Amino acid sequence: MTETAPSKAEKGPSSLRDPHHPALAAPSGKQTAQRFSGRSALATRPAAGVTAAVKNRRSVGTASLSGPDGTALRERGPAHLAPLEADAAGPPDPLTIGRRLRHLRKATGKTLSDVAAVAGISPSALSLIENGKREPKLSLLTTLAGALDSNLADLLTVAAPSRRAALEIELVKVQRTDAFKALDIPAVRPGPRLQTEALESLVGLHRAMARIQAERAATPEQARRANADLRDRMRRQGNYFGEIEAVTAGLLTATKYEGGPITRTVVDRMAAHLGFRLVHTTDLPESTRTVTDLAHRIIYLPQPDAGQHDSRSLALQALGHVVLGHAVPQDYSEFLEQRVEINYFAASLLIPERGALALLRRAKVAKDIAIEDLRDAYAVSYETAAHRFTNLATRHLDLPVHFMRISSSGVIYKAYENDGVRFPTDATGAIEGQRVCRYWTARVVFDRPDLSSAYQQYTDTTSGTYWCTAVVDRTPAGLFSVSVGVPYADVKWMRGRETSERSLSRCPDPACCSQPPAELAGRWAGSAWPSARVHSHLLAAMPPGVFPGVDQTDVLTFLDRHSVY
Ligand SMILES: [Zn+2]
Repeated sequence: MTETAPSKAEKGPSSLRDPHHPALAAPSGKQTAQRFSGRSALATRPAAGVTAAVKNRRSVGTASLSGPDGTALRERGPAHLAPLEADAAGPPDPLTIGRRLRHLRKATGKTLSDVAAVAGISPSALSLIENGKREPKLSLLTTLAGALDSNLADLLTVAAPSRRAALEIELVKVQRTDAFKALDIPAVRPGPRLQTEALESLVGLHRAMARIQAERAATPEQARRANADLRDRMRRQGNYFGEIEAVTAGLLTATKYEGGPITRTVVDRMAAHLGFRLVHTTDLPESTRTVTDLAHRIIYLPQPDAGQHDSRSLALQALGHVVLGHAVPQDYSEFLEQRVEINYFAASLLIPERGALALLRRAKVAKDIAIEDLRDAYAVSYETAAHRFTNLATRHLDLPVHFMRISSSGVIYKAYENDGVRFPTDATGAIEGQRVCRYWTARVVFDRPDLSSAYQQYTDTTSGTYWCTAVVDRTPAGLFSVSVGVPYADVKWMRGRETSERSLSRCPDPACCSQPPAELAGRWAGSAWPSARVHSHLLAAMPPGVFPGVDQTDVLTFLDRHSVY
């Protein structure tokens, strides 16, 4: 017996969501447009976000439920969402009417039998009505109202008769949901012996639980959409952020940078110029990469691991938040956008535009462009160099490009394209977590006997022929490949174009590589049962919290501990 449409019942209390998390509530393309309309929007964003949340709260529609005896109950969205607020619109539900009947009956000092006798029904039938378990006909309601020296209009008043009654109604309703039943916790009857304090507490707990569930439920879809939106924006501007280039060029000039790699010393000078001190520490909270103490203007960085970790990049990213005027992200989209911006900020300092362009333009004239040269000239990782190449290639060299970082099982972690290459996508347009064709350079590189050198290949795809170069990156989390590619027409500028390696990809045709060959599949039909290794970081793409994924208590405890000294 289903009393409640489960999806609505679970979504209902979500209006109790934290107003500081408007993105969870707001589905809007409008917000997105505003977000991307430029830096000036930054100051007005929080207000707009709250408004959106409030609007959303009011726009929830009507859900229809079914009563225990199959009677249709009408569950009004807003009342469900904001149960303690009087509501002027819409008819009341049987439970509210029942509680109002009981309230009137007690107020007039009458028993169930007294009133039932007048209405010509049994006391138990009246009890069912008072408990909202049976929906009375209008004629019966009119009679009952008369028996209680009241009238129909009063009975149908939407608001619960008292705060206590409102709490009782809310508790009964929430205990009827499938979500509650699934918990297998005994329901509490909100009878007269249940103290109002306890009732408040129970209702409060139910609301908190509903909010947490709603946040979790909103997570992956919202996050994937935010990723897709951001990628669209990056594609439109050729992955080039002129504003950030201007800011970093100014910073380089102010700190008297003269060319070559950005050393640790230069980074220290930049931090000092901005009024910050960089402190390496061994006790950073595990959920963070860096922590910035804005009050004392200190950036805490991890202790470099055996020279492996490049703390220059981390320090510059932390400074990026300050220099770019980032406010606490209002939603996941903004969080992602800030991540992209600080990455860009750091990369544009580690590989300054002017010097990199001189190098790349010379290479283009010589028809000898290579990511490795950028990497070596600026002492950065291949990934940083490859990513930086995509920033400059389209804007300054007139080259459309694509870029990918994938795991050895082919799962996309990062990708960018403006050259028409077709990344695999899901229904929301998201590519994170999708598996690329096993015949693409990015995956073939893992099969090479020598993983230490770059591998180049031509690939015929459904959207044309591309030439790509890829390297394998060993990390504590496993092997990844970083690859950069250009359309066939532009390969003449690239070093490594003489390769004779070639492959054919028919993806997204499932017969290409995502389905096993028919003969193999037939032989194993019904006999294979693998267990997936879940990419939890991708599934939980949007952890809840102001700074997604960060343990805020850890961070504050950390700052407290350090500011003592
Ligand atoms: Zn394929």
